[in-house]
Amino acid sequence: MTHLTPMTMGQQFGRRSWAEPWKIKMVEPIRLLDRAGRERAIAEAGYNTFLLRSEDVYIDLLTDSGTNAMSDRQWAGMMLGDEAYAGSRNFYHLEAAVQKHYGYKYLVPTHQGRGAEHLISKALIKPGDVIPGNMYFTTTRLHQELAGGTFVDVIIDEAHDPANLHPFKGNVDLGKLEDLIKRVGPEKIPYVSLAGTVNMAGGQPVSMANVKALRSLCDRYGVRIYLDATRLAENAWFIQQREEGYRDKPIAAIVKEFCSYTDGAWMSAKKDHLANIGGWLAMNHEDLYETARNLVVIYEGLHTYGGMAGRDMEALAIGIEEALQDDYMSARIGQVHYLGELLSDWNIPIVKPVGGHAVFLDAKAIYAHIPQDRFPAQTLAAQLYLDSGIRSMERGVVSAGRDPVTGEHRYPKLELVRLTIPRRVYTQAHMDVVAEAVKAVYDEREKVRGLRMVYEPKYLRFFQARFEPL
Ligand SMILES: *Cc1c(COP(=O)(O)O)cnc(C)c1O
Repeated sequence: MTHLTPMTMGQQFGRRSWAEPWKIKMVEPIRLLDRAGRERAIAEAGYNTFLLRSEDVYIDLLTDSGTNAMSDRQWAGMMLGDEAYAGSRNFYHLEAAVQKHYGYKYLVPTHQGRGAEHLISKALIKPGDVIPGNMYFTTTRLHQELAGGTFVDVIIDEAHDPANLHPFKGNVDLGKLEDLIKRVGPEKIPYVSLAGTVNMAGGQPVSMANVKALRSLCDRYGVRIYLDATRLAENAWFIQQREEGYRDKPIAAIVKEFCSYTDGAWMSAKKDHLANIGGWLAMNHEDLYETARNLVVIYEGLHTYGGMAGRDMEALAIGIEEALQDDYMSARIGQVHYLGELLSDWNIPIVKPVGGHAVFLDAKAIYAHIPQDRFPAQTLAAQLYLDSGIRSMERGVVSAGRDPVTGEHRYPKLELVRLTIPRRVYTQAHMDVVAEAVKAVYDEREKVRGLRMVYEPKYLRFFQARFEPL
């Protein structure tokens, strides 16, 4: 028997909506502070949404990281936690799930994604190395730099244009990459750092054709490819929907094929894998496995738990299976796109096409009168909280940080506010409330002047920087 998905039903009967393939068994109350309360809260937080207390937030779209709602099966799995120091049953379950679905030979568990980034950067990067990638990610690039490397962006130009409708804006520009390999020499490139989807470009996917072509280019020069697989399941949905020949392939098969063109991956399980904590590093090469297994016991924990409790590894192993279900993914990305369509219909500038995990507001276009050194995206995130208690995140000049050589701000082309949708947490009615709040802030845009930074931490400043209104 074949099950009808919302998509195949649509083909049979005309338009049909997607719906979540689950019902709600437990609820967590949320509340909206009054205007005076919100003004006090955001001032106390230094106009940085990372410094707000969660209790003061109404709808929390700060991040999709670790904010997932787990299923009844995952919660049941938590009770099967084997909290042995070494050789926990849950580790072997996790290892089997990663091998089955991602296809890599070896697994090293870590407490979360950046733990894995630390290990791979330390294991493979030597001072003076160059690491090309399809747009930077904050923690990924920092670990590459701390290991003595320099990140070089080789994403296609379309990714830097928020209005460009390219279906795979996460693609690597193979010409840029080949020029770089020829310029610095393949021995200076420990690996290509490939991410699917690309968070900083707006959750934009990489096509299967691109990763295939990347593989043959890298093979010609003997360069490895390691994948940031944090949102690869979401990336696979875009391949299924947009790429010739993949319409009838399950998400799980697409994920596995994609990984087959890479040498290994690191993962923040707090995203795609529907868990609240966890991560891993996986690889096919034994040399990296051996080094990473040595390093993990220094920085994370024994190589059979890597900083996770047994119960967390169990929830993660079950989450991997759930994340790769087609009906789940249609509803997941369907909800993100529902919010994107509402905002588009009201002509609010957003990054298009809408990506997999979030809708990104184009703060540069919305606050065209605020120069980038007055932090338009940071300002927009603060205004959205003031209007309606909704928490979002800056992804612009504050996130980009300073150039380690010149000490100047790095001015990214994209100055965005991310409305990140947690998985299986909010309803369509919440999305309506969010869209209306964005509209209200957009309509008042002329009245806003921007912010100045009054405290700046040295690393990953966006987490803890403080601001004052101008
Ligand atoms: C979140 C994230 C990471 C880092 O993972 P953590 O679990 O937060 O440490 C790395 N890469 C991407 C693309 C991410 O979104």
